[in-house]
Amino acid sequence: MIQIGFHGAAKTVTGSNYFIKTDNGNFVVDCGMFQGPDVEGRNLEPYAYNPAEADFALLTHAHIDHSGMLPKLYKGGFRGRIYATNHTIQISNLLLMDSAKIQENNFKLGEPYGKYTNQVALVYNTYDAEETTHLFESVHFEDEFEPLPGIKVKFIRAGHILGAASIEVTIKDGDGWKKIMFSGDIGRLQSPLIETFDTEYKSDPDYVLIESLYGSEVHPNRNDNVEDMIKVINETIEKGGNVFIPTFSVQRTQEVLHDLKTAQEEGKLDKDQPVWLDSPLAQKVSYIYLTALTGKDEALFTFDSLRFVKKAKQSYGLTKQKGQIILAGSGMADGGRIMHHLQTGLDNPKNTIIFVGYQADGTLGRELKDGAKEVMVEKTKVNVKARIVAYEGFSAHGDSEDYKAWIQRFNTDKLKNTFLIHAEEDRAEAFDKELDKIGITKSHIPDWKEEVKLS
Ligand SMILES: [Zn+2]
Repeated sequence: MIQIGFHGAAKTVTGSNYFIKTDNGNFVVDCGMFQGPDVEGRNLEPYAYNPAEADFALLTHAHIDHSGMLPKLYKGGFRGRIYATNHTIQISNLLLMDSAKIQENNFKLGEPYGKYTNQVALVYNTYDAEETTHLFESVHFEDEFEPLPGIKVKFIRAGHILGAASIEVTIKDGDGWKKIMFSGDIGRLQSPLIETFDTEYKSDPDYVLIESLYGSEVHPNRNDNVEDMIKVINETIEKGGNVFIPTFSVQRTQEVLHDLKTAQEEGKLDKDQPVWLDSPLAQKVSYIYLTALTGKDEALFTFDSLRFVKKAKQSYGLTKQKGQIILAGSGMADGGRIMHHLQTGLDNPKNTIIFVGYQADGTLGRELKDGAKEVMVEKTKVNVKARIVAYEGFSAHGDSEDYKAWIQRFNTDKLKNTFLIHAEEDRAEAFDKELDKIGITKSHIPDWKEEVKLS
């Protein structure tokens, strides 16, 4: 008997978490944080399963919506190994400690948990996060291993971000074996910095869990977006304004720096143009990327006019200058150092804010992108006079075409079922129709906490 429980990223994008029961033992795939106004409160609820009953865990990649609740699993009694690639472990160590510190600080101040709940609660602290990091065990791409007799696991490259994997699990079931493929987040076939998924990889899974985030959509051309971004930057600098780019710490920051460096090399952006990376977390992640990518090209995204802002005081001073490019977290402008830049910078018509990532409902980033003329930045009311630009082409997630390329590598005739996950329900339905077009008709959009027996 094999049973899979969908404890997150089922009819939602975030909170990726699956509990798999088998006759050979039980395991968890991903243990992510729910993010966003409608689902954040779920992080405070106990699990519908007993974490102590999981023998091991598999982590597809470091993003917090896949990894961020591993310390809650630890706190709930889980003591097994957490298998992940080396780069996923390095980045997760940073993100988990960062998340625990933010929670601890808010808790001490008596502030509610997260950004959208009213409850003062501490899901886990730095001790739990640190103990969790000791459970990690690194694995290599494409090396099959057997965490328990009768359960074989193989991580395969997914693109998306450094270290990200899809995971193939083959489980002994009665007299035979069943193969389940967990997509994790699927990268784009064209990715500027890291290797993407291998289109030649062959497999014959019985069941597939596949990301459906972008439904039937196809991303705009990334290069067109980059070209436009450089044009907007130059227009802003010429007017004497500042350019603020809210960024995500992992991958997006490094990609945008790579774009700016390329523009400098091609003479499209002044070589002396100061660029500030004003996010302590993004700086630490950048060091991991630099070490990982060294050997291919040492300076993929560093250049002479790039500076790392260290102290918060220096960050406050920056806003008062002119003609600067400032990258700061968070990517959806719902926390981090970008907030004080926006507090002072939004009111100035010479400035430009450039969004290079997905802006979830309920975030300040989304309000600005939707054209709000007056916004609350933390507790201050601010008039929006700055130019607001948003690009869709920078996504680290694949689009509908990439998802199809990902699944068509497999022997899809053998598929017994395909579960559509990591998406709102309407997007999953839209992608379901795309799957029909390529002859994959056995599919299911699971509910949160739904349990399915794989027969
Ligand atoms: Zn991800």
